[in-house]
Amino acid sequence: MKKFIRKVAVMTSGGDSPGMNAAIRSVVRSCAYYKLECVGVYRGYQGMIESDIVPMSARDVHHIIQKGGTVLKSARSKEFRTIEGRKKAYESLKEHKVDALVVIGGDGSFTGGMIFSQEFNFPVIGIPGTIDNDIFGTDYTLGYDTALNTAMEVIDKIRDTASSHNRLFFVEVMGRDSGFIALNTGIGAGAEEILIPEENMGLERLLESLEKSRRSGKSSSLVVVAEGDKTGANVFELADYVEKNLPQYDVRVSVLGHMQRGGSPSCFDRVLASRMGVKAIELLLDSQSNKMVGVQNNEMVAVDLENAVKEHHKISKEILRISDIMSV
Ligand code: ATP
Repeated sequence: MKKFIRKVAVMTSGGDSPGMNAAIRSVVRSCAYYKLECVGVYRGYQGMIESDIVPMSARDVHHIIQKGGTVLKSARSKEFRTIEGRKKAYESLKEHKVDALVVIGGDGSFTGGMIFSQEFNFPVIGIPGTIDNDIFGTDYTLGYDTALNTAMEVIDKIRDTASSHNRLFFVEVMGRDSGFIALNTGIGAGAEEILIPEENMGLERLLESLEKSRRSGKSSSLVVVAEGDKTGANVFELADYVEKNLPQYDVRVSVLGHMQRGGSPSCFDRVLASRMGVKAIELLLDSQSNKMVGVQNNEMVAVDLENAVKEHHKISKEILRISDIMSV
């Protein structure tokens, strides 16, 4: 798709994540650097349909690198799932003389972007922004590192109260389909057990492991549970089950929830966002489309959006092994 690019639109879509603002800033400043015009689309695809589009200059994005959430707001749009909705969105972009689109979001946003690009022969580049780190083709997504640190700090605090009262805490972290947050915060916070969607540890093994911990003289225990862990039991059911079968334990539950999505991005996420924004604009200048910017082995890469959406980012066997060894 060889097209001359003069004006780029940037937007955030789907669930917000820390680092989205840093990515917006990077896209806007890269445009300024390469003498391209840039506009921001508010509220994702819905804002595109409603022509909620404003010019953005390098100065418009000052002091946003440290902010959580997204200054462009995010939304989910049912209308964009229809051809009529996408046609309206295309008309809006044409009205603003936009030649290419950078979408910061998750796999749903990429699917929408890919369909749009194919239908209207319109250049689209994706930047992966989601705390779940579940996108294929990139070692890290924007917001994941920040979410890990947020969750780990809270779990550390829960550990303080757990050990003061000899309690067992079940802590639920985000991750309906992916255990990256649970596994890594669990290792980082020294959890006794970690339950994730990818592996079924089994309830029996959980009991055995907790019983072993107790007998070995541990004064507190923490079990980190991903929302969609494979035992199929939610965190309250797990706590009930353990309380019934191991009455010696004083069991408590803590659900971390949306706090994991908020907050100022970590330095890692800010730098990653800056690198991804530059790469997105350079891919467009190189006449590329339907690509997602990723980072692999600390190198910036371009991955086909189709693969990013179709494939799964798998948890490495090595990190699973580490978690096993650490819970001995
Ligand atoms: P998160 O990881 O937080 O879920 P996401 O980008 O996957 O982020 P979604 O709600 O799945 O979030 O998708 C965001 C938007 O992308 C949807 O509201 C919709 O407008 C658009 N979209 C998703 N799937 C499609 C599709 N199949 N066709 C057209 N548009 C889509």
